[in-house]
Amino acid sequence: MEGQSNEDRVGISDFILYDTLTNEDIVENLQERFAKNKIYTYIGEILVSVNPYRDLQLYTEKYIADYRNRERYERPPHIYWVADTAHKTLARFGQDTCILISGESGSGKTEASKVILQYLAHNAAFGAGAAPAGSRQSRSIDRQRVRAQVDRVAEILIQSTSLLEAYGNAQTTRNDNSSRFGKYMDIMFDFKGDPAGGSMRNYLLEKSRVVHQQAGERNFHIFYQMLAGLPETERKRLGLPQGSLRDFAYLVQGGCAALGKEDAANFRKVTQAMDSVQFSSDEKDSCLRVTAAVMLLGNMEYEADPEDRSNSSVRVKSSCRQAVAQLAGLLRVPPDGLVKALTSRRIVTASDSVDKAYDLPQATYARDALAKAIYDRLFNFVFEKVNSALAAAGHFDSDGDKRRAIGILDIYGFEIFEINSFEQFCINYCNERLQQLFIELILKQEQEEYEREGIQWEHIQYFNNEPICELIDRPTSGLFALLDETCLRPGQLTDREFLARCEREFQQRPSPHFDSRKLSPADKAMQHERDFRITHYAGAVVYSVENFLDKNKDTLYQDFKRLLYSSSDRHLSSQWPEGAEAANRVQKRPPSAGLLFKQSIQALVQRLAGMRPHYVRCLKPNGSKQPGSFDSRLVEHQARYLNLLESARVRRAGFALRLPYPYFLQRYKLCDSPAVWPHPPPGMPPRDAARSILARLQLDSEDRVRYGVSKLFVRHARTVFALEQARVRA
Ligand code: ATP
Ligand code: MG
Repeated sequence: MEGQSNEDRVGISDFILYDTLTNEDIVENLQERFAKNKIYTYIGEILVSVNPYRDLQLYTEKYIADYRNRERYERPPHIYWVADTAHKTLARFGQDTCILISGESGSGKTEASKVILQYLAHNAAFGAGAAPAGSRQSRSIDRQRVRAQVDRVAEILIQSTSLLEAYGNAQTTRNDNSSRFGKYMDIMFDFKGDPAGGSMRNYLLEKSRVVHQQAGERNFHIFYQMLAGLPETERKRLGLPQGSLRDFAYLVQGGCAALGKEDAANFRKVTQAMDSVQFSSDEKDSCLRVTAAVMLLGNMEYEADPEDRSNSSVRVKSSCRQAVAQLAGLLRVPPDGLVKALTSRRIVTASDSVDKAYDLPQATYARDALAKAIYDRLFNFVFEKVNSALAAAGHFDSDGDKRRAIGILDIYGFEIFEINSFEQFCINYCNERLQQLFIELILKQEQEEYEREGIQWEHIQYFNNEPICELIDRPTSGLFALLDETCLRPGQLTDREFLARCEREFQQRPSPHFDSRKLSPADKAMQHERDFRITHYAGAVVYSVENFLDKNKDTLYQDFKRLLYSSSDRHLSSQWPEGAEAANRVQKRPPSAGLLFKQSIQALVQRLAGMRPHYVRCLKPNGSKQPGSFDSRLVEHQARYLNLLESARVRRAGFALRLPYPYFLQRYKLCDSPAVWPHPPPGMPPRDAARSILARLQLDSEDRVRYGVSKLFVRHARTVFALEQARVRA
């Protein structure tokens, strides 16, 4: 039976086999399977995965071989089926495909994307260099060349992971290796289906982590890896003190003052990865210097400036003077320029320009903003280096127009915390748009299949979340636009004014998806004046408007940009092109963080919309990173946010199952009358043969089945169970 192979009799291996399905059924079935180490279950073509938190030996060569070129119902659910199908679609039909992986932090998204990558790279090793035309000798040379290029692309894709994770991942309370950015990767294949190149994009790095971590969490891995793994002389050269982690204010905000067991070993992998993606020694040095500078920046302290009679402005503490020189040396900028930018800013108007000294909160804010911005640009620099290496390794000589892509998206799932801020707002918006795309694509796929098979299309009821997407991203009156509008108004504006602006908007044009204390005073869900609520497809989330303006403006003063642009380290300087603008010009406002994020998600969705999608939904079984334990409440919560129930409904769109006639006949021919043996009688079209079996079993009514061109469409799973019983009796 489709989805329920003979080798997998634990629980139900495909949720589509349920006639009626509830969230409780989902959790119960997942739990039963999880207890027997069956971590994968299908919802039709969607794969649900539960993190086992232990190595179940599921990704060995035996499994890779087992899933190669298999149909879904031939093997128990596995992520390799998803990878194989994506590759097959691409190779057979020349269609771009994508694999969208979602789930909350710690649910196994990044591991899933690595396993898919491993499968694709391995698969390529079989197919690479399949007999190009030409003489035997030239074929052999061609094959070797392609083989080397394929290996090189696969090597970069796999090796770069440790580098990107060092800069983009951190230990959090939810996951010891939590990705603090979204990642989309396109693996390009040539016309033979071999990996021929690739590119990556990142989304919204959580840069606030550079200066602040929640209790029990660490900063980005790279800082600790450097401290654990750098040889003594290097460490000295970079001015990193030999003491404990406590010497670095930025590294101990979460109270996690210990290096991890694997930090030193991972640092070796990072430097190897840098070599592998061909960082020059200069670029490598620049990365390490700038990373060290960010660490030291956290130690920069201020004191009252004795020369300021008003006693409000500050200067860099005398005890930090040497550190300033060190820092300026690492960044390759003039020390006095650095001191100036850390303690004052130039305000330029149309007619004049003045230097304004900072008070303590302003100076601290500026220092932290600088650290975050430097790190963010460095992360992008590293990302782009990997992209260049992939571009250089690609082989698209003559078949440029035949190249195809498999996109892999490893992106933050829907988030709901105690306090939800601008970051959750962006992340949940992204999920809202991806959900919209999911519905659109699945329905489109269904409709196309109905057309191909000559089955009449039936309308499906589903929850359309387009109004929620528009509430957030509509030009001029969506929440992103209202936020930008508030940020642009002159004067000292507060976050509350943004909320008031939204309230005015939605008083005039009420939306069932937006609410606040003012709009619904009796509603107790919003505890504070600062709260507003969006009813997302996955549930209602209360956001606190605090810091929305600041995070959206994402200001870094021009003084810093100029300073970094002036660096004699050309790699650092190249990361700050806006610093080239003349000092005395009134600066144009850069686009806001919200706008940039919205645009990047819209571009992503547009890219994905042209691809055939596959979905992996990851769940985390418990909150304590433990193998073997399954917390039903926690899983139910995630199943709801991942919309598994709705997915099952939309996925089966009126028909629970589709069985290709040859498969149907092979499995159920026993059920036909012995009089028509051998079955099907020679010359009888498979559709008629299937019809004859169903008629004999009285399962052929219109409300049970429809006959497509190549497949039988079965409305309810109970019809398949009836067939199975008939088969057992026969
Ligand atoms: P985040 O959103 O925080 O980045 P994530 O969904 O990417 O989380 P992963 O980093 O992939 O989560 O997984 C967390 C940890 O769970 C891994 O470091 C690994 O220890 C374990 N894990 C995840 N998937 C598997 C798997 N299939 N088999 C064994 N262990 C796994
Ligand atoms: Mg991850």
